[in-house]
Amino acid sequence: MTLALFDHHIHSDRSDGTVSLADRAKSVAIRPHGVSDHYPWRDKLRNEEDLKRYIDDANRLGLRVGIEYDLGVAPPLSRGTHDALHYVIGAIHQVELDGEWIRYDDAGAFVKGRAQRFKEAERFGAVELRSRILERTLEVVALGIERDRIDILGHPTFSALQPIGDPEVVYPEEWQERLIAMCVAGGIAIEINESYGVPHREFLLRAARRGATFSVGSDTHFDLKPLARTAVMIDEAGLPHARFLAGARPARAER
Ligand SMILES: [Zn+2]
Ligand SMILES: [Zn+2]
Repeated sequence: MTLALFDHHIHSDRSDGTVSLADRAKSVAIRPHGVSDHYPWRDKLRNEEDLKRYIDDANRLGLRVGIEYDLGVAPPLSRGTHDALHYVIGAIHQVELDGEWIRYDDAGAFVKGRAQRFKEAERFGAVELRSRILERTLEVVALGIERDRIDILGHPTFSALQPIGDPEVVYPEEWQERLIAMCVAGGIAIEINESYGVPHREFLLRAARRGATFSVGSDTHFDLKPLARTAVMIDEAGLPHARFLAGARPARAER
């Protein structure tokens, strides 16, 4: 099954991807996509100067250009840089609780099948820690919407809790509804992420009922592959293609 929807979430060697911007510009012929590297990223996308070069280089190649803005970590973007991007994906890769960073790297490796077992399963099984992570997530997303004016919430239910089990148990319905309500009120799209396989069907059904918009993100760091999982997820939730972004930020009231 081929999916013609625009793929917003693609990495290049300007952060942790393996493919150059020039080669990414060629694969647009296979299916429509942009590029969205991590910001900030170590020695490559350290600051807005680096970011401006990245935007210029991608534009010169005819690519739509976004970033994967590291929510809770990245410094605020200047208005000019924000507006020079075609879209901003906000995504969480760690949260800070009382000065301690809770990182999601091991969970990510496990979810993506790169690690056999999730060594921290017991730790993140603790209900109190879980609820603190969930509350902190909502705060960080709210800031991303209000202060950073993100356009898309990347891999919305990926966290160190994802490997624990049934997403309907790990992410209480009431929490899902609050997250969805924030996205709908802020006019930001909910990403369907091929690499992490999130969000799950019930979340997508709830989001659709609330009138959410959506965005496709393969989140590939390598060659472009068919969006097999995404196609099934969209199909099973019955999401109309008209509700998906197409390489530009959603039209909404200026904020
Ligand atoms: Zn990410
Ligand atoms: Zn990514």
